[in-house]
Amino acid sequence: MTIPFLDLGAAYHELKTEIDTAIHRVLDSGWYILGLEVEAFEAEWANYCSANHSVSLANGLDALILALRALDIGPGDEVIVPSNTYIATWLAVTAVGARPVPVEPDPTSHNIDPTRIAAAITPRTRALLPVHLYGQPADLDPILLVARQHNLLVIEDAAQAHGARYKGRRIGAHGDVVCWSFYPGKNLGALGDGGAVTTNNSDLADRIRVLSNYGSRIKYVNELKGVNSRLDPIQAAVLRTKLVHLDAWTNRRRVIAAAYNEGLKDSGLILPHVPDWADPAWHLYVIRSSDRDGLQKRLNAAGISTLIHYPIPPHMQDAYADLGIAPNDMPLARQLASDVLSLPIGPQLPLTDADRVINLVSLAAQ
Ligand SMILES: *Cc1c(COP(=O)(O)O)cnc(C)c1O
Repeated sequence: MTIPFLDLGAAYHELKTEIDTAIHRVLDSGWYILGLEVEAFEAEWANYCSANHSVSLANGLDALILALRALDIGPGDEVIVPSNTYIATWLAVTAVGARPVPVEPDPTSHNIDPTRIAAAITPRTRALLPVHLYGQPADLDPILLVARQHNLLVIEDAAQAHGARYKGRRIGAHGDVVCWSFYPGKNLGALGDGGAVTTNNSDLADRIRVLSNYGSRIKYVNELKGVNSRLDPIQAAVLRTKLVHLDAWTNRRRVIAAAYNEGLKDSGLILPHVPDWADPAWHLYVIRSSDRDGLQKRLNAAGISTLIHYPIPPHMQDAYADLGIAPNDMPLARQLASDVLSLPIGPQLPLTDADRVINLVSLAAQ
């Protein structure tokens, strides 16, 4: 009996009737690019995020790239990014020709440390790009303050933070623009790729929308050098169906996280730290162990799948050898990469399985 890290098939089967009906609605409509289904999802997603606008896109990486492009960030510019993040955050910055300038995390939250940002700002800095990693909101108030003081934009990478709250308010419009992914494994996941931005800035939303559709507002009239990055109506229909269940599914994640917190409190492992202003979406439940690789092996032998988010920090990837950042220039990111381990968590993980994880992790951690 093995416990999977995340059971996407079980998520589909729980909503199979509703999802199949939604997909068939699109198939029967005869309309397969943009249109009413996509518009309805955008309105519902903006409303959920308490943002004035949502523009749906093909994936989360495009959301970051098009947000940066729409804000005219490009060659010669610098963007401050977390040293501890999924590489997509950095790839978006380099995709527009700008330079990612990493800032180390707060070691308790794993998110960018706001107190270290000012020292990384130069005359070339244009934007801060915090990530709400693992579904834990970054500490936005001090980030927004330093941005205001230095006249910088704030672009949030919320690919892991659907429904997370910062000081009671949902992630979705604190910064200038918020970027989302609907990759299947995310908390709100499509049955394929998907992405979006949310923002309260109508000009920015309009520019991203035009960029995403060939730089065109009127067919065959092209005002910008755009790309093709559109959310599929079939995926929009799936996302509309799943959005109705998102809060209930986040609650199930919360219950599992609470069980792990309680059940593992004496295990000697470092458990996730949740500041009192944070209401995380629990995309991942990440523990730290000085014997991470041994622990993962023992759990694997006991039938428990775990993952590492992430084993190699961006500054140590071959892809970024050209930036000339030495491994030890970002010691915290390097340290986290060597000791983090993500335990199984998801809306379809039975609590009895979570209890088994607690028992086996407690044993394996000794
Ligand atoms: C998933 C993810 C992305 C990229 O999203 P895609 O839809 O896979 O392109 C970006 N940033 C973070 C932090 C992510 O977890």
